[in-house]
Amino acid sequence: AVDLSECVAGRVLRVHGLVSVVEAQDGRRFRCGVRRVLKNLAIDGRNVVAVGDRVWFRPGGEDQGLIEKVEPRSGTVTRGYRNREHVIVSNVDRLLIVSAFVEPELKLPLIDRYLISAEKGGVTPVVVLNKADLVSLADYQWVFGLYAQLGYEVIPCSASDGLGIDRLREVLSEGTTALSGQSGVGKSSLLNAVQPGLNLRVGEVSSWTRKGKHTTTYAELLRLDCGGYVVDTPGLRQFELWDVEPWELELYFIEFRPYIPHCRFPDCSHIHEADCAVKDALARGLIHEGRYESYLKLYHESPLDGD
Ligand code: GDP
Ligand code: ZN
Repeated sequence: AVDLSECVAGRVLRVHGLVSVVEAQDGRRFRCGVRRVLKNLAIDGRNVVAVGDRVWFRPGGEDQGLIEKVEPRSGTVTRGYRNREHVIVSNVDRLLIVSAFVEPELKLPLIDRYLISAEKGGVTPVVVLNKADLVSLADYQWVFGLYAQLGYEVIPCSASDGLGIDRLREVLSEGTTALSGQSGVGKSSLLNAVQPGLNLRVGEVSSWTRKGKHTTTYAELLRLDCGGYVVDTPGLRQFELWDVEPWELELYFIEFRPYIPHCRFPDCSHIHEADCAVKDALARGLIHEGRYESYLKLYHESPLDGD
């Protein structure tokens, strides 16, 4: 075991190659390397230290240190590779799935896709529907109803007129929130509304995420005045995170769960089989048609025109 007696606990805000920027609990920032032993351990095959990691580091010099230990991760947002995963952000409490009612057009299959990723990563999803000022909310009651019935919170917002911003700030004030959603839905505008003075640039693909000289983009944790951390990464925006196999899908469509054991075939795909309890539930209106359509679409992996 490593001797942590002179080590300090911190959170990784950014990773630049071999250097991690770590924030100690008192808010001081340290540029840290990683002990060689840890490098050899290579926690996920690829990145030893990820943005969001809780670490122990040994301070040395003014604002430098050496990471001695990385705490086990929970709630990871990952990018799937063939047989290993790259952790984009770790220790995320929730995924904010940001869409707009219009401009760009609301695409429920895209929301479903993010919901499944959240379910898979063990992260609580919250659906934010922005640009409410451009529509009549009464036309969208069925959308709120649909997701509320599944147990997901839906927050209608408008960065322009302030609707929903107080609730959003409340949600963001605890733990760590990863932002996802197509570009143009208003993620930067919403954060600016939550924290006036943040001054994120609106209308750009990546607002505070640094674009390095080598055209690499980095994820970065941002601490909000209301207390929480947010992270916004190009990876999440472009949704490269998809690593769900068709057979796994049924696990993450949470409303299918009660019916699955009643399908005649244990390996039922709920598409063409006889005596399928999921399709029965669909026919009886217990499963929403739109959600079933998303299931079909995702099962067949037809590309979704996200970003
Ligand atoms: P991001 O790419 O998701 O960060 O989106 P931005 O925050 O950059 O916003 C994209 C565009 O949508 C900008 O032109 C914003 O002014 C506009 N926008 C953002 N929020 C709202 C809103 O609530 N209502 C309206 N009407 N426009 C908005
Ligand atoms: Zn079935």
